[in-house]
Amino acid sequence: TTRIERHHYDVVVIGAGGAGLRAAIEARLAGKKTAIISKSLFGKAHTVMAEGGAAAAMGNVNSRDNWQVHFRDTMRGGKFLNNFRMAELHAKESPQRIWELETYGALFDRTKDGKISQRNFGGHEYPRLAHVGDRTGLELIRTLQQKIVSLQQEDKKEFGNYDARIKVFAETTITELLLDGDRVAGAFGYYRESGEFVLFEAPAVVLATGGVGRSYKVTSNSWEYTGDGHALALRAGATLINMEFLQFHPTGMVWPPSVKGILVTESVRGDGGVLKNSEGKRFMFDYVPDVFRKQYADNEAEADRWYSDPDNNRRPPELLPRDEVARAINSEVKAGRGTPAGGVYLDIASRLPAEEIRRRLPSMYHQFKELADVDITKEPMEVGPTCHYVMGGVEVEPDSGAAYGTVQGLFAAGEVSGGMHGSNRLGGNSLSDLLVFGKRAGGHAATYADQLTARPKVSVDAVEAAVETALAPLQRDTGENPYALQQDLQAVMGDLVGIIRREGELADALVRLAELRERVAKVSAAGGRRYNPGWHLALDLRNMLVVSECTAKAALERQESRGGHTREDFPGMDPKWRRVNLVCSLDGDTVRLEHKPLPKMRAELIGLFDRAELAKYLTDEELADFDALVA
Ligand code: FAD
Repeated sequence: TTRIERHHYDVVVIGAGGAGLRAAIEARLAGKKTAIISKSLFGKAHTVMAEGGAAAAMGNVNSRDNWQVHFRDTMRGGKFLNNFRMAELHAKESPQRIWELETYGALFDRTKDGKISQRNFGGHEYPRLAHVGDRTGLELIRTLQQKIVSLQQEDKKEFGNYDARIKVFAETTITELLLDGDRVAGAFGYYRESGEFVLFEAPAVVLATGGVGRSYKVTSNSWEYTGDGHALALRAGATLINMEFLQFHPTGMVWPPSVKGILVTESVRGDGGVLKNSEGKRFMFDYVPDVFRKQYADNEAEADRWYSDPDNNRRPPELLPRDEVARAINSEVKAGRGTPAGGVYLDIASRLPAEEIRRRLPSMYHQFKELADVDITKEPMEVGPTCHYVMGGVEVEPDSGAAYGTVQGLFAAGEVSGGMHGSNRLGGNSLSDLLVFGKRAGGHAATYADQLTARPKVSVDAVEAAVETALAPLQRDTGENPYALQQDLQAVMGDLVGIIRREGELADALVRLAELRERVAKVSAAGGRRYNPGWHLALDLRNMLVVSECTAKAALERQESRGGHTREDFPGMDPKWRRVNLVCSLDGDTVRLEHKPLPKMRAELIGLFDRAELAKYLTDEELADFDALVA
């Protein structure tokens, strides 16, 4: 028989990025015995890589900012497909979550009068991103970890044991959620280094596993991001929404090939950087869509004045939401006006003094110097779109983060959850999302665990099945190579379900994904259980595959273009489709897709918008409702 280490917890948090850590802190503060599990080293998560900042309407730099303006910007950014309640909670609560971080020891950059400074970012009407240079995520993770250490020190005093009520299991991958009927009973996984199995028995699980980017070749995401949480949720009976919406960040590095996809922060544009094509033209002026004309400048002089006088000028079009900028870059390159490496130029060198560039964007300066031998204070960068963020995710009850579907005791927060960002996320809205909904999910998971009269039990059969699935790739002597399979998957997703989509290609993608599914069932990994990345990838592949199927299916179904979903054959937004969430679930092994109407915005929220603006998004029927409401 296989040896399995067993642990008992009240709340198990899968993922140690911002959402996971904030959730774990909340569960522990509620007195629950809490485990934090992370696939890679503790502290290494996408959160730590976040550069630009966390969006919160504190009004420190422009006192006109408030939650209502932030709410409006978020809904516009998501093209009104957002779950309005999540967008509301997020806009209202993110300032408190940022101030709270300072009580944990964070120190954000300051304004002259000592307030937390805020920077401009795409789609945000006022300077709104609280930041620490271009290393904001590092500060966020550092202080959340510090808070956890301080809680462990309290436990040491009280119980003589640092790990009494909160413990971190680093380099531990969860491969399966275990259920008792329809209730969560635990999580099963392996230690990356030893390959030994570990079982966490717990009535409440918070998924905080982040994104899915590794299904694409050109991506800003690192190796862990294989959609594990999305797939765990599906297999446990939860549902995913909005999986067709992927954010291709407009500015990834395009050269040299070995670093293609690595992120170039939007702060470069927020701080004055401009995009130019090979003819030296600042092309973004040609790409301001109708719905944004009122807020964005149509000439360089006005755009440039905006940086010093934002109240009397319209914003530069380089700061349009990311989906718009990514599509524009794509079009320029396609039209033959790209750079030698197939991107466009991002120029900050001619816009700010060298010293200022090094002060404001130290990481970017080093990144280009070291990886591309480019001095960004002297030359432009070459950039192009890169798969960055998934708007889709676990469908959750907005206030608690509880997963919908048949499962109970499952919660989700952060990038793995869906709804908050609609069809497109604004930059900076993720770090704040993690804090707001991480806290909520952790708190509600604790309450759920408290309210149970009897603990769900993990069955022997379920554990045996999990072991068998995990060992299968090692037991096949011959079979498919996991690295070749991942490459093939990336080719399907990048070529057929990429930034611009077409019906025939999406249908083709589904055929190929079905073939890949059969091949993944025969994946084989050489070697044993001790530190074996090929085996780990073999296990990740089944997650990547089911999540990719959801994305491709939903992308084929949605016959319009909106946010992070662009259909060449349906180029416009269609108000009828704005009312629809596409919901994925698993029926046995088969991905099922259903239409579900979007919840209706409450009167005081919809009343924050002009009728003229709403008319660009809503159906006539919805507008008639609106007129009745405000009359
Ligand atoms: P993550 O921080 O991604 O953490 C996920 C955790 O889950 C990790 O600990 C991982 O190891 C663990 N995990 C995954 N699968 C498993 C498994 N099977 N078992 C156990 N553990 C697992 N957003 C902003 O708002 N502002 C920015 O400036 C910004 N800059 C960014 C820069 C880069 C380069 C990238 C990649 C993203 C950036 N984003 C930014 C997006 C933002 O960083 C992420 O969306 C956010 O950090 C996600 O946080 P999270 O807590 O949901 O998950």
